[in-house]
Amino acid sequence: MSLPTRSRGTKSVALTYDDGPSDKSGELVRLLLEEGATATFFVTAENCTQRPEALALISAVPGLEIANHSYTHPNLTHLDEPMLEREVAGSKRAIEQTISRRVALFRPPEGQHDVRVRRAVADSGQAIIMWSLTSMDWKKERRPYVASTVVRQCRSGDIVLLHDWGTSDLEASRAIIRRLKRRGYSFVTVTELLGDVVPGEVYRGRVAPWWVFVRRAQGRFVYWRRLIAARTRRERGEHD
Ligand SMILES: [Zn+2]
Repeated sequence: MSLPTRSRGTKSVALTYDDGPSDKSGELVRLLLEEGATATFFVTAENCTQRPEALALISAVPGLEIANHSYTHPNLTHLDEPMLEREVAGSKRAIEQTISRRVALFRPPEGQHDVRVRRAVADSGQAIIMWSLTSMDWKKERRPYVASTVVRQCRSGDIVLLHDWGTSDLEASRAIIRRLKRRGYSFVTVTELLGDVVPGEVYRGRVAPWWVFVRRAQGRFVYWRRLIAARTRRERGEHD
């Protein structure tokens, strides 16, 4: 069984499931097949080693994408170089060996990254994939509202953050898929949404062109303000 490919001209959304494979991955895969929706699984190499059958269930379905979510899910910004290499590049090698497929997408645990992490990700030939819409399924009190949160906020081009936990509410995923389908959405993998990615670059899904413009202008403004402030200090004879 495989998933239908997307038709052109429709609204697209990429569902992403982090932290698997879990004991519920099989049920989640079955649900996606039943609903005819694809998704991207950001798995940890450690969980892949512990649950090879669950990983096999995901990788057996053509159209589902497997991506890297580190080895053991630490905060990468706190690691020394050898540990960072293991978590970023070692995990990629381990996952690729298991599924015999290339992995080019990396999501840092908790979304934490800095210059060192981005360099390590670039060196390993992966791109950083963040998200543009969170389901808040990691917050216990928000769990009853996961489906309504996603459906209400979803726009075309979104990358939606969900989790493949043993405790996840799979019916929330079913509700999301059914309701978004009724609104004209089709489901794509992250690669289908973004196309070819550049190693080391950070992608967040839907970003309005005006927002890119504002961020660039902000960056320039901050740069010039710092420069002027440094010059003023020098002229006053203060130390930088
Ligand atoms: Zn995670």
